Amino acid sequence: MAAGTLLGGSRRGRSASAGRAAELRAEVLAQPFEALKKRAVPKRAPAPDDWLALHAEVGQPFSAYALGGPVRAARYNAFDLVMLGELDGAHRRVASVVVAYARAFFGVPVRSALTARLEDVPADAWRRHPVTRHPQLRTGPLLEGVLRPLRPRDTIGVIALTAADLYPEEGWNFVFGQASLEDRVGVWSLARLGDPAREFERCAGRAARTAVHEMAHMLSLPHCIAYECVVNGSNSLRESDQAPAEPCPICLQKLCWNTGADPVKRAEALVRVARDRGLTAWLPLLEERSAALRTL
Ligand SMILES: [Zn+2]
Ligand SMILES: [Zn+2]
Repeated sequence: MAAGTLLGGSRRGRSASAGRAAELRAEVLAQPFEALKKRAVPKRAPAPDDWLALHAEVGQPFSAYALGGPVRAARYNAFDLVMLGELDGAHRRVASVVVAYARAFFGVPVRSALTARLEDVPADAWRRHPVTRHPQLRTGPLLEGVLRPLRPRDTIGVIALTAADLYPEEGWNFVFGQASLEDRVGVWSLARLGDPAREFERCAGRAARTAVHEMAHMLSLPHCIAYECVVNGSNSLRESDQAPAEPCPICLQKLCWNTGADPVKRAEALVRVARDRGLTAWLPLLEERSAALRTL
């Protein structure tokens, strides 16, 4: 389940231990990932409502990932990004940034030809929010009834983008998105990421960061607790806005090992996308990483 809010309060778990995070950071990685560690920021202690204050997470070293039988990109041909329902011009531009960013991020094809209609969603999947009365779509019937049937056999995973607002079950206000890793399908809403006509970069960045986070899960990466990382769990827009757009050295080694991406070429491709598509806030970090990787 992705971040969202429960009506009437939130659940509280226990935070992961700082000792475990330090243990994960001590794993010796292959080069150039090991050398990137000195530029990486160790995961900060969570604020009271942050993901790690509410959810028990143990993290995972690279070695356990490689030995654990993860979903391998090489078994499939591509990711699929599905447009669900009508998107207006600004939201379509956001979706095209997501596709470009995800392609560079994973170094595997990301197809965007599939579409699905909101008319195909079962009528009983809609509700009116109990307080605001605005229409919302339940994620379960959408994942099972609409996205799973159209999933191509050769896809690593399907991520749907929609302008509709989502909720996971009664008792919840909303949810940003939800994925079923078993079924390799997920859905993400653009409804609460801001107004792309007024603040395009912020919305496109949020959508791109969210998509690559979910797609990393589809390649079996669990949440990261070792460093500040795009694969960190997040409980709110405030928290995910603070996370970097890039994986930490451990998660980067997992991704490059899985997809076969060359980390130097990957970093250069991300700089080009950020420059061409107006993700200017991410450029300093991406350029710094690209320059560092070229010298290692
Ligand atoms: Zn996640
Ligand atoms: Zn990480």
